[in-house]
Amino acid sequence: MHVTELTAFLVPLPLKREIKHASFTRTESINLLIRCKLSNGTIGWGEGVPRPYVTGETPEGCLQQLSQSNLHPALMQSASNWPEVIAICDALQFNNDSDDSRGCGSNSLRCAVELSLLDAFGRHFGQPVSAVVPHVAEAAEIHVRQPRVRYSTTITSSGAKSERISALKMRAYGFAQCKIKVGVDGQDDPSRVARIRRWIGGGVDLRLDANEAWRPEEVAEKMRPLREFGVTCIEQPVAHDQVDALASLRESIGVPIMLDESLTSRMDAERAIELGTCDLFNLRLSKCGGFLSCLRLAALARASGLGYQLGCHPGESGVLSAAGRHWASSVRDIRYLEGSYDRHLLTTLPTQEDITFRYGGWAPALDSPGLGVTIREDWLRQNAKAERTFVVEAQ
Ligand SMILES: [Mg+2]
Repeated sequence: MHVTELTAFLVPLPLKREIKHASFTRTESINLLIRCKLSNGTIGWGEGVPRPYVTGETPEGCLQQLSQSNLHPALMQSASNWPEVIAICDALQFNNDSDDSRGCGSNSLRCAVELSLLDAFGRHFGQPVSAVVPHVAEAAEIHVRQPRVRYSTTITSSGAKSERISALKMRAYGFAQCKIKVGVDGQDDPSRVARIRRWIGGGVDLRLDANEAWRPEEVAEKMRPLREFGVTCIEQPVAHDQVDALASLRESIGVPIMLDESLTSRMDAERAIELGTCDLFNLRLSKCGGFLSCLRLAALARASGLGYQLGCHPGESGVLSAAGRHWASSVRDIRYLEGSYDRHLLTTLPTQEDITFRYGGWAPALDSPGLGVTIREDWLRQNAKAERTFVVEAQ
């Protein structure tokens, strides 16, 4: 069995509310959806979320890279088991002619193509995508099977009244963990965090994400009043080009540091480990180049004594939510888990199934073949702003 056709769609997904953090504000997400067809007609779907300020990719740039890449040598290989599917995914070579010194310039594209293959072959094998994990050699130490997983929530900067309402809602919903976006210009973070802590309650694990907002010399000072509220982590306090400074600041900052914008690839991960700039990696499937790459990065973190979370991009559809679910229910010791916000964030679900997490952030592992979600193809074709098909072999 081999791949005969890939079709790429760019689809704008409107968000129910504005998402605001220190480096960006958005009201819609333009996602790359890939439809993969196998030689027996089985269809699989993958998704990537290109963000220029994260990996330098744009939606249109992904289509261009896809048309310039020679994927035939990899896609012509046939596969009848998971190790052969992994071999195909690992052989995918994307043609990225921009400066890609961190090895991340095709990550969301790779994620979308890889997931479409995993979904298609999983359907063909009659197995869920999570069944690939035991076949990834590097992932032996992190593999586990969990019947359900628990998602965290996030409070973005939105004014005192709506933050109070958000905190109360999240308390009522029974979340165990909450991330607060800090570092937005004009906001008084100590009073925001105090207010959220008061309303969400003392039992919720609170952490912060500064989205590169601070200068290295001010991080310790910014964190001093925030530490009082029992925060368990600060994510990406400084800009990526200043990230090396964190190595000498960790002690004075006083809470574990997570890298996000500075953690996109194996190259980034090895540098962070070598310099000692962090305690945790924020792995996101699209940002970090897909399902397999994230498994290997988590294994590398664990072997280096670091922790990891599985994060997400606001605006991911059910395809990436499902992929995240398979990943999270197969990996041990995930410090925080984000994703599956679907119904809470998107005005329309492109998938037939609604796999949004439930009360408390809980959600079951998915055990249908492939990713376990079905794209509403008519809706997609009506709403896509670009569609391009790449034939792998004349049929
Ligand atoms: Mg972040």
